[in-house]
Amino acid sequence: MERSLFAENMQIFGGKPDSMWESGFLYGRERMSLFDSFGRQITDLRVSITDRCNFRCVYCRSADPESYREHDEILSWQELESLARIFVALGIRKVRLTGGEPLVRDGLENYVAYLKSLGVLDLSMTTNGHLLADRCDALIAAGLHRINISLDSLDPLKFEKITRTRSYDAVMRSIDKAQATRLAPVKVNAVLVRGFNEDEVEAFAAFARERGVIMRFIEFMPLDADRHWSRELMVPAAEVYERIYAQWPLVQVPNEKSETARKYRFADGAPGEIGLIAPVTQAFCGHCSRIRLTADGKLRTCLFSREDRDLRALLRAQASDEEIERWIRAVVNEKEKGHRINEPGFVPPSRTMVFIGG
Ligand code: SAM
Repeated sequence: MERSLFAENMQIFGGKPDSMWESGFLYGRERMSLFDSFGRQITDLRVSITDRCNFRCVYCRSADPESYREHDEILSWQELESLARIFVALGIRKVRLTGGEPLVRDGLENYVAYLKSLGVLDLSMTTNGHLLADRCDALIAAGLHRINISLDSLDPLKFEKITRTRSYDAVMRSIDKAQATRLAPVKVNAVLVRGFNEDEVEAFAAFARERGVIMRFIEFMPLDADRHWSRELMVPAAEVYERIYAQWPLVQVPNEKSETARKYRFADGAPGEIGLIAPVTQAFCGHCSRIRLTADGKLRTCLFSREDRDLRALLRAQASDEEIERWIRAVVNEKEKGHRINEPGFVPPSRTMVFIGG
């Protein structure tokens, strides 16, 4: 079975390299490609630039104080730049900046500009939107291509209950601001939790139609700090699909195999799009092209990895680029086949979403 997955992936990726990019050179060095032992090509890197966040969403963080990493434990901008250069040389072409909340760390715009200068083809960010409106233009000027903004309720009081903030108006302003720029269509992410916001599926779909945004529903995953996750609290993507379809029939839009979302447009031609992200009920690990770098410099080959690998230690021990490249290849080679959430004896990772980077 593993062999056939390997063969399938080699056919998809190995057979037809993305000519301009993969055959190119980076600062005089040939660009390389990164494959895992199942033949999946790793092209996407999620970089958590901080573990700090100005929200405390119930499905992510605890109401109790959590201890953040000390500042010197977090990778400096210089270290993040060095690693980005190495990852890009190894074949990373998509970078998503995340956290924590990326906008709380000063210097973000400079890092975006640096990533652009490396030739990253797809440069995106996930944010809660609280600080975005005033920074949007600078981020675009620096080279940001796309943005995902989290919004878990269209009801200000419920938003307050879920995020434990009063930032509803600020987030809405940011969505409108970003949607009026070349970041449009903005992707709006909602995590549905039964008993909190499951009743808003149709309202979110209406929001997509009115604003022309891509409304994405993410299944609640066992990565919350309070360990309250249960299957009963999760709203499966199939249920979301059926409820929206009952009101506004949907037509599937083709997507790349490695994309996390199944995408749909409205059959009546209304603007906006629906994305369903179903890591729990319809895992997409077979075509996963992602690895993650945490704010404290750990490399993770799966959101649910049981261990993370200490890249910061290697970097701070003055390893050469070649040594770091070899190390990354070896870690990627051990990328898990899948996340195992649905297997008996599944144990969630000790790190929660805010400390991994979503
Ligand atoms: N602070 C930014 C934000 O709010 O979008 C970026 C970091 S946040 C960890 C990234 C994404 O992870 C958000 O869309 C959030 O909704 C999602 N997320 C957090 N905890 C989750 C969980 N337990 N299950 C599913 N998605 C989760």
